[in-house]
Amino acid sequence: MPPISVRFRRFVSLNTTIRLREGHIYVSLSDILEGAPDPVIRAIAHILLAKLYKKPIEPAHNHRYKRFASSAAVTRQTELIRSARGSKRYFGPEGRYYHLEEVFDTLNLRFFGGLLGRPNLTWSEHMAKRSLGHYDAAHNTIVVSRVFDRPSSPRYAIEYLLYHEMLHLKHPVRMNGVRRCVHSREFKAEERQFPQLKEALAFLKRL
Ligand SMILES: [Zn+2]
Repeated sequence: MPPISVRFRRFVSLNTTIRLREGHIYVSLSDILEGAPDPVIRAIAHILLAKLYKKPIEPAHNHRYKRFASSAAVTRQTELIRSARGSKRYFGPEGRYYHLEEVFDTLNLRFFGGLLGRPNLTWSEHMAKRSLGHYDAAHNTIVVSRVFDRPSSPRYAIEYLLYHEMLHLKHPVRMNGVRRCVHSREFKAEERQFPQLKEALAFLKRL
C-alpha cells in the first residue's frame, strides 16, 4: 500500500479528490466532511480508492454517501453565509439534566441510521417559551430552549423537539414557485413516525 496523505480543505462544495503521484496517494476532502459519521467516511474512502484503481463501486457505499451528501450540501451553502455573518452566541450542548449531543446521537441512530452530520447544538440563553427550538441554517446550529433542561421535562419532549429540528437538516427548505416550503409533505409524514408524538405535543401545549 502506498503512503496516503489526507487533508481537509475549505472547498466551496462537497469536493473530494484523489491522486496518485510518484507512488504517493493524496486525498483532499472538503472540511464539511470533518464531522461526518464513520460509515460515511468509510464509504468515501471506498469510492475514492475504487475510482483511483478503476474498480467497481459497491452500491451500498455509493448509497450511503449520496444520502449524506444530499443533506450536507445544504449545510455548506449556509456555511458560506455563516462566515459572512460572523459568529453568534453559543452556550454549548451540556445542560444540567440533558446533554444535547447525547440526545442527538441517540436519535440519529434510532431514526436516521446514524447518517446525519451533527450540527452545533446549544441551549438557549434564556428560558425561552416562544421559541422552543429552531435550526439556524446560517450558523448550522440547533438551538433548544432551556425550559427543557429540568427534571419535570420528560425526555420524549426534548427528543421530539430535537427530532423535528433534525428533520429540518434532512429536508432542506424547498422553493415551491415563490413560496418557501419549510414543512413539506415528506417532512410531516416523517414527523408522524415519532412514537410519542401525541404526548410530546400535549406537553409543549402545556408549556
Ligand atoms: Zn419546523
